Formats: sequence, structure tokens, C-alpha cells
Amino acid sequence: MNTEKFEKAVLKTIKGNNLLDKREKVMVAMSGGKDSTTTAYLLKKFGYNIEALHINLHMGKWSEDNMENVKTMCKQNKIPLHVFSIKSELGNTICYIKQVVGSQTKYKQCTICGILRRWLINKKARQLKATKLATGHNLDDEAQTALMNLFKGNMMLGINSGPKVGLFEDKMFVTRIKPLYYCKEDDVRKYSQTMKFPVLYQRCPCVIGAYRHEVRNYLNALEKKNPHIKENIVKSYMKILPELRAVVEQNGLRYCKECGEPSRNDICKACQIRMKIR
Ligand code: AMP
Ligand code: ZN
Repeated sequence: MNTEKFEKAVLKTIKGNNLLDKREKVMVAMSGGKDSTTTAYLLKKFGYNIEALHINLHMGKWSEDNMENVKTMCKQNKIPLHVFSIKSELGNTICYIKQVVGSQTKYKQCTICGILRRWLINKKARQLKATKLATGHNLDDEAQTALMNLFKGNMMLGINSGPKVGLFEDKMFVTRIKPLYYCKEDDVRKYSQTMKFPVLYQRCPCVIGAYRHEVRNYLNALEKKNPHIKENIVKSYMKILPELRAVVEQNGLRYCKECGEPSRNDICKACQIRMKIR
């Protein structure tokens, strides 16, 4: 693994896409996995003003180990860390919420978890006065999402694609940035292993059976014949993204009547879920 080359590529994504500048306060959403750990490490190494935020999902030993790893990483790299608990914030563990809500709505279990995490992460980053929120999304994640939206026949669902999300100013929405946007998952894994970061490499224990898993395997198989396939998918999506975003900008971003967070509907998806567990 050529770590220098990898680091240069990440810096190129940051600078080339104008992701952030050194005066900003960046909150890195750290799950304890290789991607967000690498993101936090590199932003710190490049001299950005970062802090970290971790959500404890209370999924037994999996969550305990992830939280310990995030704490170790932040301590080693002198990154201030803010930990929040899904149980304290929503009153229940994620497993309970997924079970109860999953049986009452069309949402898949991983979708429920994703909606609640994004909702909480945005809210907390804003309350902590961050100007940017960095996540560990990589090229594989983005190519999978693009393909899944295409298969669903709804490219509008990919409005949050791109290395920078939230291009129009909104006081409630913290602009999200993805410094690993053009990095293949395999390269991130190799970098993280070479750097001996304290991370778990297994996937979330609940992910088995997820549709994304099938798309991942499919793309990895196709990549053997065309090594640029993931990059090509993402770049094609990027070409139509300005048009998709223009539609949302025209309609304006609304705010959830229940929680006040940014939403495309009267009641945001997170509140629709929260109402089911009250
Ligand atoms: P995922 O939806 O699991 O692919 O995660 C996408 C991104 O969300 C990760 O790269 C992290 O930046 C962030 N993230 C996921 N889980 C957590 C968590 N428990 N706490 C904080 N950030 C998280
Ligand atoms: Zn809401």
C-alpha cells in the first residue's frame, strides 16, 4: 500500500471540490469503522480544525467495541470527542426501534437505522456549532447508492450524492462533506490496516440480507472486468446531479413540523419513525 499516494488523492478531493477551509469547525461522524476513522485521521493530519461525534447504537458488544475504538483513536490523535446515546435520545435501542417500526412501515431495517442516525448526527453537529460535517462515505458506497436508485427508478433519491451535500445555505442543515468520495473501499481498508488503526473490519451484524449487500457483490464482480466501473457510475451521476438539485432548490427546503429539522415533507422521516415508538 502506497500510503502517500492515498493521502494525496484524499487531499486532491478536498481541495479540488472545495470541501472546507482551515477556519471552519468540522465535526467528523465516527462510527468506529475504517472509513470514518481514516477520514478523521487524515483531516487532522492535514491540519483541519476537527472534532468527532459518535452515536452509541447499543447493539451489544459490537457497539461497545466500536465506541472503545473511537475513544482510543481520538485520544491518540488529540481529537475532542462527543458521544451520544440513541437510547437516551430516542428512548429505545436501535434493535427495538427497527423491530417495532419495521413491522409497521415499508422501511427496511437498515433504512430505519440510517434515517435516525443521519437525523441525530445533523442535529448534534449543528448544536455543537460545526460548519461542516464529515462522513466516511467512499466510492463503493456512492456507486452502490447510484445503482440502487436507478434500479428503483428514482434518481431523485440520490440528491445527497456528491462529495459535498447541502450546497445551498440553510441554517438548520450542516453541509456534509465526504473526503473519501473517490477512494475505493479496498484502498481505504488497506490504508487503515497499514496504519494499524483500532477498528473492526466486520460489517454491522444486522446488515446480512440487506439489498445493498447484493449490489455490492454484483459491482465487485463486474469490477473484475472493468476496473473503472465504480468511478464511471459515480461520475455519470455527478453529471445529472445539478439538474436534480435544481428541482429541490426551486421548491426550497422545508422544516419538519414536529422537530424543526430540515425535511422534504411536512413531517420528516425520522419523526414518522419516532411517532411509531411513542
Ligand atoms: P453507513 O450508513 O453505516 O454507511 O455510515 C455512513 C457514515 O455515517 C459513516 O461513514 C460515518 O461517518 C457515519 N456513521 C455511521 N454510524 C455512525 C455512528 N454510530 N456514529 C457516528 N457516525 C456514524
Ligand atoms: Zn422531524
